[in-house]
Amino acid sequence: MADYPEQCLVACCMENRCPICKVNPNHRGSHEATLLRETKETVVLLAMNETNSKDMKFKETYQEIGLCPIYPPFWACLPHCDIFQSFMLDLLHQLHKGVFKDHLVKWLVFGSPVS
Ligand SMILES: [Zn+2]
Repeated sequence: MADYPEQCLVACCMENRCPICKVNPNHRGSHEATLLRETKETVVLLAMNETNSKDMKFKETYQEIGLCPIYPPFWACLPHCDIFQSFMLDLLHQLHKGVFKDHLVKWLVFGSPVS
């Protein structure tokens, strides 16, 4: 059980990123298909970052999915654990502050962007 900032810390991702999937923060809410974060891929990328890999494709991928330099994550040695599947919705940060305060209140005060 963790709130959104703690979920990001556990998922080793930046706080503007989704701890469950790899969606770009500017594309949240779009209907694009996004890939879920994968345990093995994430551990490999975190390990490569730790060794200062010079691979440009690696650096691109690392930044694209918004990982933080945390290595080794505590869940890396848990063989049957998919940490990204264990996160629950954080009502305060994601529903109240995210949907209600940031989107619904703006929409009600300033009106629909279409009008
Ligand atoms: Zn997501």
